[in-house]
Amino acid sequence: VTPGAGPLGGSGVSYGIDIGGTKVLGVALDDADTAVAEARVRTPRGTGRIEAGDVADAVVAVVAELTTELTAALGFAQPEVAPPVGVGAPGMVDRSGHLRFAPNLPEGQGVDWTELIGARLRGHRVLIENDANFAVLAEHRLGAARGYRHVVMVTLGTGIGGGIVVDGRVEVGSAGFAGEIGHMVVDPAGPPCPCGRRGCWERFASGAGLGVRAREAALAGRLGQVVKIAGGDPESVRGEDVSAAAAAGDPEARRVIEEVGWWLGFGLANLACVLDPECFVLGGGLVHAGDPLLDSARAAFAELVEGGARRPQAAIVPAAFDERAGAVGAALAARQGGLW
Ligand SMILES: [Zn+2]
Repeated sequence: VTPGAGPLGGSGVSYGIDIGGTKVLGVALDDADTAVAEARVRTPRGTGRIEAGDVADAVVAVVAELTTELTAALGFAQPEVAPPVGVGAPGMVDRSGHLRFAPNLPEGQGVDWTELIGARLRGHRVLIENDANFAVLAEHRLGAARGYRHVVMVTLGTGIGGGIVVDGRVEVGSAGFAGEIGHMVVDPAGPPCPCGRRGCWERFASGAGLGVRAREAALAGRLGQVVKIAGGDPESVRGEDVSAAAAAGDPEARRVIEEVGWWLGFGLANLACVLDPECFVLGGGLVHAGDPLLDSARAAFAELVEGGARRPQAAIVPAAFDERAGAVGAALAARQGGLW
């Protein structure tokens, strides 16, 4: 083992992989917490029956790419000891690395990921966890929530993931399932959710939620400029188009983003009632909608939170690691052998 190296890898490098709804993203972190390599592939899905093995193969491809990049960048032939690998998965991961329930990655459900990926990455120590638990670790240790002891991370991707830090430690609950905040029901008569229920928060305030709201608005004759840019068909309007148009000053697009921001602030106000955090960190692709989203979320939060004028102001800030938070946290946790 090289002097000064991390406890698990002779090179002091660890890998973090985040399995998302659209991409598998990996980073290599050195022992000074600097990302020294990055790789990504598309999450296999969409056509035919996608097996968990295909997703595991994608993880292996990202690991191989990271090793290739490191070899080129750092000039060593092979890491002396295979770097430990943290893998974040969307959904309910139990304390033994099983993904028990994953509405946004159904092909990965019920699978022993530690075994499935471990068998493909012989020599690496593999740690599987919920992706947002990794993300909150990264933001708390190194990112936007540094210095706060009570933090809630909200990742606004395809769905909504949640990670919770209580008194400086990641709280995973009794079975490991704490932080499934995207499936708090905010409207029992609301739209169906892939989890099998109705009106979950992520139907309203995630990237997918923005997409649905954007198409509704377009079909109702709003969003004229965005529809034009999208090729004239209201059905083909995507959330990203609305975010871009709002950022460019389109008032109709801005209004739709603000509606999503209201739902975001509404959910944060509910979370504050349970957890009383000092800081909410917002990650995931939807955060690229920027100030129109954040300002409306802050305004809705201030209006809706219990005892708003009589409690300390909670910070609501974008993630420092952007889409990489889950991967960076996975690498941190892999290096130390767990979330703690
Ligand atoms: Zn749900």
